[in-house]
Amino acid sequence: MELNSILTAGLTDTWEAAPGVTGLRTLFVNVAYLSQSPANWILVDAGLGNFAGSIMKVAKEQFTGNPQAIVLTHGHFDHVGNLKELLEEWPEVPVYAHPLELPFLTGQMDFPPADPTVGGGMMAAASPLYPHKGIDLGSRIKPLPEDGTVPGADGWKWLHTPGHSPGHISLFRAADKVLVSGDALLTVKQESAFAVVSQHKELHGPPAYFTTDWEAAERSVRKLALLNPNVLLAGHGVPVDGPELAPQLARLCETFKEKEIPEQGRYV
Ligand SMILES: [Zn+2]
Ligand SMILES: [Zn+2]
Repeated sequence: MELNSILTAGLTDTWEAAPGVTGLRTLFVNVAYLSQSPANWILVDAGLGNFAGSIMKVAKEQFTGNPQAIVLTHGHFDHVGNLKELLEEWPEVPVYAHPLELPFLTGQMDFPPADPTVGGGMMAAASPLYPHKGIDLGSRIKPLPEDGTVPGADGWKWLHTPGHSPGHISLFRAADKVLVSGDALLTVKQESAFAVVSQHKELHGPPAYFTTDWEAAERSVRKLALLNPNVLLAGHGVPVDGPELAPQLARLCETFKEKEIPEQGRYV
């Protein structure tokens, strides 16, 4: 990527990843809007802090009224950063997460600290600066339904994809094989600042500095690859679709142990 386009890269981007699936990039983290009609939609994740205005602007442009729900892929700071403002703006809207993620969202537990020794670039080196404290959403946070349905998003199912965090989930729409993968499967090398700034498209496992269970993380990537998705909207990186997706996923599974799992690190 040209230096110039890196310098002029905006703080946000929006994409229509698939019909009824809009992605919004908040600096280096994506949120997703899943909609069945302008009045019937949900928000997946809440992005990096200070982007509540951007999240609400896209919502007002594309939809009417409040979302049916906010669904969290997991509770890391860069995916819950605007929840406070959004929940004030949308006072009746519930937030859903996997039961294993609830301790981090009800103030009972903090995430383990990020591990900068995993290497891979500046984003990893800077990771001690990333907040790892849990937040307390009180009565607004609820467990996802056990039957795999996604409240407010007919046709979507949630899948448990742990490893990066204990209660990490991904969302899948089987009818046209659209996958919203959170941090279980990325389309950018998140440890590398150069890759993040240029949004260089390349499939990868979860951000290493926050991933605490690599065996589970590998199983989760294989589980997602078996879905054979046509469209992938991840928590970090641009959406990927079309014929390049299947071979890239196959290659990621083949090389996961040698390329994705750090050689050293606190959680390896
Ligand atoms: Zn994360
Ligand atoms: Zn993330």
